[in-house]
Amino acid sequence: MTEQMQRIVLARRPEGEPVAEDFRLEEAALPDPADGEVLVKVHYMSLDPYMRGRMDDAKSYATPVPVGGTMEGGAVGEVVASKSDAFAPGDYAFGMFGWASHGCLPARELRKLDPAHGPLTAALGVLGMPGFTGWFGLNEYGKPKNGETLVVAAATGPVGSMVGQLAKAQGLRVVGVAGSPEKCALATGRFGFDACLDHHAYADGKEMRAALAEACPDGIDIYFENVGGKVLEGVLPLLNVGGRIPVCGMISWYNAGALGADAGGAKDNLPKLWRTILVNRLHVHGFIIADHFDRYPEFLSEVGPKVASGEIGIQEDIAEGLENAPEAFMGMLKGRNFGKQIVKIA
Ligand code: NDP
Repeated sequence: MTEQMQRIVLARRPEGEPVAEDFRLEEAALPDPADGEVLVKVHYMSLDPYMRGRMDDAKSYATPVPVGGTMEGGAVGEVVASKSDAFAPGDYAFGMFGWASHGCLPARELRKLDPAHGPLTAALGVLGMPGFTGWFGLNEYGKPKNGETLVVAAATGPVGSMVGQLAKAQGLRVVGVAGSPEKCALATGRFGFDACLDHHAYADGKEMRAALAEACPDGIDIYFENVGGKVLEGVLPLLNVGGRIPVCGMISWYNAGALGADAGGAKDNLPKLWRTILVNRLHVHGFIIADHFDRYPEFLSEVGPKVASGEIGIQEDIAEGLENAPEAFMGMLKGRNFGKQIVKIA
């Protein structure tokens, strides 16, 4: 009997919030690596907010996952067969293997990992794509300066916690927004934020604004945008002249599809938004991290030692088993994750 692997495919496109029926667990024959390819047994896979966008058939910066196709995602694991001189069985690698127990990819698409340099899971979070996103967006477009004030939501996730910790180390006042008292305690505790607001405690942008105004007595110089919604509404009137907004994500609108900006009455705020950008001479810069991987080695050499020394703290949330990936993913979109969401496969 041929050896089997498991994978989770997109069973149908979600309408609004994804539900269990949108995913399907399948078995498939374990592929044989062709010349130049490497077969990897996945140990941990990453769950990231961008995957919600891949489930919609909408024009975006990346191609959607086809219905019946394996859900996309990055993962780390051990090489079990190789037809490339670059990898041998027993090596560890990161690759875009998808939501699957195994992945078979050309060696040039893989990154070799040295387990002596820290836990494998770090390559999915703090030292992987999300950590890199926080580092790049903050430095490139946030342009932090000592004494300024920064606000970041999804503050305890891998992007937000990187942004906050780096900004704090550069002498900024750092105010987080997160989804529970426990998350806020993590932000002000291990991650060293000056303050953190639980967004569930505020009904709308107006209430959010009042709380943010108290937490940011000198106004806001950098708003690292991860969520949109009422946090953005609350932040806008508090931005200082010359403020910067690295636009990284807007997770509160992801379930509204590609036209998410129409969600929750947000459309009515367009004139206010445009006027604020003009009057306060704001620098608003959207970015997609996939365009900037030439800077990844610089990130690793700067941040890797800070993670190793504990200067940058980590929080991971590890679900068990590929079959539980959809549940963990749907939970993450609602903020049920406590830190970087990972799934342990092997
Ligand atoms: P997280 O691990 O922080 O998980 C997402 C978090 O978003 C949830 O835990 C929840 O945190 C928060 N959230 C969900 N819904 C809402 C809501 N309605 N209002 C406020 N917060 C909400 O994610 P990441 O750190 O991986 O990603 C953070 C952001 O960065 C996302 O928007 C993501 O899409 C974006 N991103 C962008 C990239 C780019 O290239 N531009 C690359 C990587 C990430 P809580 O409970 O604390 O509210």
